[in-house]
Amino acid sequence: MIRLKEAIIEADYLVTCNSKNQIIKEAAIYVVAGRIHSLGTKTQIHKDYSSSKVIDGTNKILLPGLINTHSHSVQTLLRGKADDLSLLDWLSKVILPGELNFSKQDVYLSSLLGFAEMIRTGTTTTNDMLTTHDSEKGIEAAIDSGIRTRTGKMLMDINQDFPDAEVEPADEVIEKAIKHIETYHGSKNNRIKSSLNARFLLSCSPKLMNLIVTTQQQYSDLMIHTHASESKAECKKVEKIFGESYIRALRDIGALGSETIIAHGIWLDEEEYRIIKETDTRISHNPSSNCKLASGICDVQKYLEMGVIVGLATDGAPCNNNLDMFNEIRLATFLQKVKHLNEKVLPAQQILRMATIDGARAINWDHEIGSIEEGKKADLIQVDISDINAIPLYDPVSHLVYSASGKDVCTVIVDGKILYQENVLTTIDMKRITEEVKKYQEKWTD
Ligand SMILES: [Zn+2]
Repeated sequence: MIRLKEAIIEADYLVTCNSKNQIIKEAAIYVVAGRIHSLGTKTQIHKDYSSSKVIDGTNKILLPGLINTHSHSVQTLLRGKADDLSLLDWLSKVILPGELNFSKQDVYLSSLLGFAEMIRTGTTTTNDMLTTHDSEKGIEAAIDSGIRTRTGKMLMDINQDFPDAEVEPADEVIEKAIKHIETYHGSKNNRIKSSLNARFLLSCSPKLMNLIVTTQQQYSDLMIHTHASESKAECKKVEKIFGESYIRALRDIGALGSETIIAHGIWLDEEEYRIIKETDTRISHNPSSNCKLASGICDVQKYLEMGVIVGLATDGAPCNNNLDMFNEIRLATFLQKVKHLNEKVLPAQQILRMATIDGARAINWDHEIGSIEEGKKADLIQVDISDINAIPLYDPVSHLVYSASGKDVCTVIVDGKILYQENVLTTIDMKRITEEVKKYQEKWTD
């Protein structure tokens, strides 16, 4: 991993995503000890600072690293094994048994593969759910990859609907989660933070949910991360078990609030929307996953009009099938325009903010990441604009939202360390990973 003690990073366009959505042409930033020290025009920065390390910005847009607010890196080995299924079948037939059968090495390999893809396509931070067993191997993969993450063990204690899912008694589940929090929360220069990952109400008893809420209150900066109101069938089952609708059930358990992020949030009634707003609960929007599993179209515009904080996400590789946040940016704005039959809904600048600074707000990390501002962490990406899809280029934000893809990302920096440059992942040996994945793949081949 190449750590930049100090460096000047240049760009044809610097897209800051600050409160004024400032864009600087012919720009540069000066980075010291993993933080953004100064930004301005190239001429000004070179006049004020000299550095032995200059990262060229010719034909490049520099912007904050993308923030994925809901992922399952550990599911990456199951990419392409669960196509064309509904959520509950997808879970019970492939995902839960697949996760159960992962060896320790598989957990590490699958997670590392997921982080590699995210880094390669411009994601610098991910809010990630691991699996029930050997989750420390997934955390190790995050540490080794250099990505910034909130992550933790997947918490489940009931499996009545999913016989192949791995569960443990609630007390044991929470004991193991606390062990991880004590070991990893705030580690690696605060690059790794913990989260309490309650899978969803169909796999977490009221007892476990209560323990999760109590544990969350005992630590600072610890978030609850869960799925909710994703598909109609799931909501129906929750209502049958809990005697009330999904969001009301979560509220009554005490699991909602500004330190809770809910993935999906599609099927809500009017009062449930109000509950989300009043509790300041965060929403993670996963457009590709919602389309592929035919779960529904989240009313992102409604949340935004109410003032709810919404981040963007890929979900896991088996329901997407890739982890490229640029796909989500483009699809999210298209879906809202069609849903509302209004071309003005979710314009380019707003959706780019959802993938950067608003994603950071959704996971309570915006004081350090999500925009290019003095004092913030140097989590940055350069996007190449020399290829045909960037010609002509009138507006860098329009290009990033409507034309660019993760494959255009050419430099990725997290915490002042270069994780991807000149077509190479600096922390991950992709040749070795690819060989290991092939061996895993052979297990599935007839
Ligand atoms: Zn998910």
